[in-house]
Amino acid sequence: MAPNVTENSDNNLQQESKELGFGTRAIHVGQEPDPNTGAVIPAISLSTTYKQSAIGVHNGYEYSRSDNPNRSKFEQAIASLEKGKYALAFSSGSAVTASIVTSIGKDGHIISVNDVYGGTNRYFSKVAETQGIETSFVDLNDLQKFKEKIRFNTKIVWVETPTNPTLSLVDIKAVAEITHQHNAILVVDNTFMSPYFQNPLELGADVVVHSVTKYINGHSDVVMGVFITNDQEIYNKIKFLQNAIGAVPSAFDSWLANRGLKTLHLRMKQHQENALIIARFLEKSDKVVKVIYPGLESHPQHLLAKKQARGFGGMLSFEIKGGFKEANTFLQHTKLFTLAESLGGVESLAEHPAKMTHSGLTQEHRDAVGVTDNLIRLSVGIEDAEDLLADIQQSLDIAVEN
Ligand SMILES: *Cc1c(COP(=O)(O)O)cnc(C)c1O
Repeated sequence: MAPNVTENSDNNLQQESKELGFGTRAIHVGQEPDPNTGAVIPAISLSTTYKQSAIGVHNGYEYSRSDNPNRSKFEQAIASLEKGKYALAFSSGSAVTASIVTSIGKDGHIISVNDVYGGTNRYFSKVAETQGIETSFVDLNDLQKFKEKIRFNTKIVWVETPTNPTLSLVDIKAVAEITHQHNAILVVDNTFMSPYFQNPLELGADVVVHSVTKYINGHSDVVMGVFITNDQEIYNKIKFLQNAIGAVPSAFDSWLANRGLKTLHLRMKQHQENALIIARFLEKSDKVVKVIYPGLESHPQHLLAKKQARGFGGMLSFEIKGGFKEANTFLQHTKLFTLAESLGGVESLAEHPAKMTHSGLTQEHRDAVGVTDNLIRLSVGIEDAEDLLADIQQSLDIAVEN
């Protein structure tokens, strides 16, 4: 049997850790010094197989797809940060999505927030469909419309908040209540907020998922995903699929992600500080039409952001004055903001959702969620804010004539 996370040796710290602060848990949960060598940092455990002293008698590890020490340590740490009992790590955020969808079985129905991550949209509409699972994309801010879309076979409601790239919020508590009245489970993709700013399980979600690739690892050098829950039945199902499907992260990636996690709290504070400075700066610029950042008082759901999260994150979007041409020119002339997909790393990135991350959506879908040709998304890094501001200013000056 693979070890259950709650039965591992760090269980005591995990129980006590409920009282400890976020940074302390990020650094200590699952991280006891090695009892054999005293190594303070866990060794990278590359062995694929583990010695048994008699048939079926072992130290919790048999075969590295089923469980690996580095993976377990990471899982314990992230479970604690998301206020969950169980966590399961995967080789990507997308592999988590695939495993959850597979767990609902054929003839199930999914309700997804309409401006969900592009890859999740693709999985729901192109892959889940071949498994006999239908998805409705719904504006989850309209609770009446949401209720009308629920079917007798709705198994999962899938939420991202804030959404990508238009940073619209969904009221997790309100959606959880309706979801549970219909015996479905609420999954929240918490990638954008990270557990530092938002803990959806405490707001009524049944499952939290992350693309670890983004803020949790935080250094743009690992592709990985994680699933967290308090529900033992759901955990057992996904644990079975994690092993059966085998989309597991390597020991090295698990080790790197665990290392990244230890500074998540420091990074998130800086991402947010910089994002707010940049959002305020853009809001004052006459070369910008609109700025979308939940931390701005002008964001239509600013109060909801304050109610359900402890912060606003490091992602912001803005509409440059003009159209595609101005956006493209801006994106070619920034020097610190690198034109690239992805987000959540220490370095600042900028991208054009309509032609990059969200090019897979239909024009109609893009229009409906506001992914316009002049929309630019920034993943604000943790460089010095004044340098980022100067970079944006000089590039805006080139892109937009007065
Ligand atoms: C990147 C991302 C994913 C997919 O994760 P991968 O690790 O790239 O497979 C899912 N959801 C959100 C919000 C993301 O940003």
